[in-house]
Amino acid sequence: MPKRALIIGGSLGGLIAAHLLRGIGWDAVVFERNAEDLPSRGAGLGTHQHLIDILHRCGIAFDDSMGVRVTAVLCLDRDGRIVLREKTERLMSGWARLYRSLREALPEECYRLNHTFTRVEADAHGATAIFADGTRERGDLLIGADGIRSTVRAQFLPDAQPLYAGYIVWRAMLDEREIPENIRAEIFPAYTFCLPQDEQVIGYPVPGRDNDTEAGRRAYNMVWYRPTDAAMLADLLTDKSGRPHELAIPPPLIRPDIIAGIKAAARARIAPQIAELFARSAPFLQPIFDLESSAIAFGAPVQRVALLGDAAFVARPHVGAGVTKAALDAASLADALAAHGDDIAAALARYGREEMRFGRGLVAMAREEGAYIEAAFKPLQERRGAERPRDIHSLVAAHHASRDRLRALAAARG
Ligand SMILES: Cc1cc2nc3c(=O)[nH]c(=O)nc-3n(C[C@H](O)[C@H](O)[C@H](O)COP(=O)(O)OP(=O)(O)OC[C@H]3O[C@@H](n4cnc5c(N)ncnc54)[C@H](O)[C@@H]3O)c2cc1C
Repeated sequence: MPKRALIIGGSLGGLIAAHLLRGIGWDAVVFERNAEDLPSRGAGLGTHQHLIDILHRCGIAFDDSMGVRVTAVLCLDRDGRIVLREKTERLMSGWARLYRSLREALPEECYRLNHTFTRVEADAHGATAIFADGTRERGDLLIGADGIRSTVRAQFLPDAQPLYAGYIVWRAMLDEREIPENIRAEIFPAYTFCLPQDEQVIGYPVPGRDNDTEAGRRAYNMVWYRPTDAAMLADLLTDKSGRPHELAIPPPLIRPDIIAGIKAAARARIAPQIAELFARSAPFLQPIFDLESSAIAFGAPVQRVALLGDAAFVARPHVGAGVTKAALDAASLADALAAHGDDIAAALARYGREEMRFGRGLVAMAREEGAYIEAAFKPLQERRGAERPRDIHSLVAAHHASRDRLRALAAARG
């Protein structure tokens, strides 16, 4: 009988884990709380070579058609002048594109929607998942791939909470065909920075609706990091009916005055080309968090539970490696289980050693990248090291170096 993994969470981390475990001869079943296939949050996804290699291992024929290749990095000043242009090499894909490929390649019986996990009972012989409707499932191992608000993590590490970083990101996307031709020709094919004081705007092309990567049918993705104190955040998260939302607000509920305000701020603070595209889009906001777990493998008397992806560690998005990290976690877990055979506890011990170090390293690296935005409310003379305001040259140098730093972190695991 093959060993059986119960994977809680059917987003990219859970799907990749299911494919990799099936690849080493396990039976793997994904349990997702949503009743229907997951909707796209409509935003782009940076890819890294590690992610592409792991997708290939999952049997996904990832190639250039699954993303939009970017070969230049630009920086625009407040007046829209190009003040820096350098070569770069990036493939920007889309969350929905990867989700669809991974989901379709998994046999239907291995992906169960409408299953809200509530708790796990682990013993020397296995783990039992208990769901909100009272049903139970038994397996040899339970994997929490249930994201930043992980219910699996909460059972074992109730004190591990996401920490608000002191800033938010506004995200927006615009269909390529809605972009005025002069702006399209100038910035669309590039990875474009704009740097208002203590803020950061990045724009780049991504697959369009229906994951299309054909010229004319792609989309332009914008992210804008802005310092936001607790009172400002509470206001942004208060919806049209006056109801406050604690951690995130569904995009349709953002108040019209907030949308009008951010579009006016775009006109006042960022390069006119990007401000124009931003004004034509439907922006939404996300607070930025750090999350670190003090352990990622649990269970007594024998470890039978593991966390991966955002359930384990969440790094700020500056490195663009959230999905890559989830994929590396899943690969490390599958490799450890393959190497240790029946000794799941030994495999989880190895997994914990590898991915704890990697997760901590990634959180620290991304925190350093965002330190100057987080420090925006500190007097300049009190800012130290990475908290000091960034100039475009250091930012672009960090952009170029981030791939090597990620590679080095991944290589240093174990
Ligand atoms: C719908 C969706 C769209 C996204 N779109 C983008 C995007 O466009 N760009 C981008 O950069 N990132 C996006 N992300 C985030 C990105 O996928 C993650 O940050 C990263 O891949 C790590 O993923 P993860 O699988 O560890 O966690 P997540 O992607 O957060 O997935 C966690 C999954 O667990 C499920 N879950 C949570 N609690 C339970 C429970 N109790 N029982 C059962 N299931 C549970 C959630 O519904 C979710 O599907 C998206 C995530 C989701 C869920």
